[in-house]
Amino acid sequence: MRILIVDDEPTVHESYRRSFCRSDAGDALAAMAADLYDDIDSPADRPPDFVLTHHVQGLDAVEAVRAGVADGDRFAVAFIDVRMPPGIDGRETAARIRAIDPEIQIVIVTGYSDFSPLDISRVAGPADKIFYIAKPFEVEEIVQTATALAHRWQLDRELAVTRAVLADKIVLLEEQALELAANESKAVHMANHDALTDAPNRLAFVRRLTEQVRQPHSFAMAMIDLDRFKQVNDTLGHLAGDELIRITCSILIDAVGADGFVARLGGDEFGVLMPVTDEADAVRKCDALIRACSTSFSVFGHSVQGAASVGLVVVDAGDDGREPVSVLRRADLALNEAKRSGRGVARAYDDSMDESIRFRRGIETGLRGAIARGELTLLYQPIFAREGLEIVAFEALLRWNSPEYGAIGPAMFIPIAEESNLIHELGDWVLDEALRMLPHWPGQYVSVNFSPRQFRRPNFAGLVMDRLNAWGIAADRLQIEITETAIFDNADRAAETLSQLRRMGLRIALDDFGTGYSSLYNIRTFALDCLKIDRSFIDGMGRERESAAIVHSIIHLGRALGLEVVAEGVETDAQVQALRVAGCSQLQGYHLARPVDAAAAIALARRSDGAIAARRARP
Ligand code: C2E
Ligand code: CA
Ligand code: CA
Repeated sequence: MRILIVDDEPTVHESYRRSFCRSDAGDALAAMAADLYDDIDSPADRPPDFVLTHHVQGLDAVEAVRAGVADGDRFAVAFIDVRMPPGIDGRETAARIRAIDPEIQIVIVTGYSDFSPLDISRVAGPADKIFYIAKPFEVEEIVQTATALAHRWQLDRELAVTRAVLADKIVLLEEQALELAANESKAVHMANHDALTDAPNRLAFVRRLTEQVRQPHSFAMAMIDLDRFKQVNDTLGHLAGDELIRITCSILIDAVGADGFVARLGGDEFGVLMPVTDEADAVRKCDALIRACSTSFSVFGHSVQGAASVGLVVVDAGDDGREPVSVLRRADLALNEAKRSGRGVARAYDDSMDESIRFRRGIETGLRGAIARGELTLLYQPIFAREGLEIVAFEALLRWNSPEYGAIGPAMFIPIAEESNLIHELGDWVLDEALRMLPHWPGQYVSVNFSPRQFRRPNFAGLVMDRLNAWGIAADRLQIEITETAIFDNADRAAETLSQLRRMGLRIALDDFGTGYSSLYNIRTFALDCLKIDRSFIDGMGRERESAAIVHSIIHLGRALGLEVVAEGVETDAQVQALRVAGCSQLQGYHLARPVDAAAAIALARRSDGAIAARRARP
């Protein structure tokens, strides 16, 4: 360890030298003693090895310190005399040395008492690095001071290194803490937001709803579902579907505004919470949301018509059923009702919705086993030719004798079956049953109803043909009855199916004509044989001019397009006369015959045999 000694008197230097020599001797003795008596003194307690540097002038000493710092071989302790003529004095020397090396331990050594320790401390401090010894000094005093200060210098340096390492560690830890905090808030965000839209997700919605129900205020929950979303997904692809969801989400957020809350509940379903004054206010707000969604968007260059249905629940301050699950369930029921009643509308929840769901479930479960249990039958309603009123065909009409609900009409259970693949099972049974009956009739054809879902079943025409072949029945003895909905939901595909059926030789009737959106103009391109005028028009004929006019024009234009026109729901003789005059080709209705069972149908068919020949003779 290096010691610097600055003193203008050579004899003083001599004293220093002797002091440190003696300390070497003492050191050797101490080591021997440690060997002999197994002394517990550690090496740190013994004076370290000192290397002395002597200078007689302050400036030389300053230079030595500077060189030591530059070479990385620093002095631990400097012993400095105060008066060193002709050069700078000890105070100045100490000040300059301190400026170069802040760590060095300084000992001011003087024989005079005319200096102020405070003054020197001020320029060469800090106080814990500056010490004073009076001349003439004791040898022990110098060595002990040097040893103690060298030790301390060493510790200070080690401490400084440790501090630096710790400071680095703290910086690192602080960075890691920041990163963790960022990751955590990211994780929290991800758990509460939907990845596609970045809107709150179902979890966040339920949490918000839970907060809402605890507040003593009225609010509305709207469940919003896009209409025809599946169609966009299927025809334009999932990316387009995603884009539509994103666009709709931001439209809803804008439309709902700052006091509301919008979340994506999943798929094409959104949840909205908003303050409302009453149900009328809530319905108005929901209608506004539907309008906002019902614009035409550009999705990847395709124009897509947006449309949405809304299920609404208004939760009043004092209501029962303020639990979040119950609110969600009711909104869901209301949404189902909105979808069922034609889409693009908002429906507010009422208790009957719940009841109807239960009933529907019961019907669905009952229907599943109905075929196996032999609960289904077909009735046949004759269709009469205008001239001579002979029976040219029978329409097959399904009946279900449910042990639980009694005799249920198809108008009740077909729409329920239509919501699942159950409709195919029923439809297959109906077709087989009708074809099984056909050989018992002399020549009439059978007209079978097919719901939109049946008609859109893949390879519909092929499946029908298979059944005809299986029963060995000519295609022209089967008429397919479909509605406009079946055709116009996907016009291109329907046109293809229809012309396939036509090529196979089947007859095709458009049922309930006049109630849908199609006009005679746009049905002209489809391969059809027959229009069945919806019975609401026949019913209104005698009472309203409009109905009579519609019936007349359908008959007129149908004939112009080469189609047969059937009037259904004929209930009076007056209607029969009017329809005959108007030129309607066939008539069906309670006035002429109610739907009858198979045996009765066979009897009617056989009696009517003669007219069949006449009908067939027509070109
Ligand atoms: P639709 O095709 O319009 O069938 C005519 C309905 O009107 C039948 O009711 C028939 O009984 C009834 N009707 C016939 N003449 C008169 C009349 O003079 N006055 C009145 N008020 N009604 C008359 P039904 O049998 O209850 O059938 C209802 C609907 O159920 C049918 O309407 C048809 O859309 C559907 N449907 C019936 N059977 C089947 C089937 O096997 N498959 C499918 N997919 N749907 C079927
Ligand atoms: Ca029908
Ligand atoms: Ca009909």
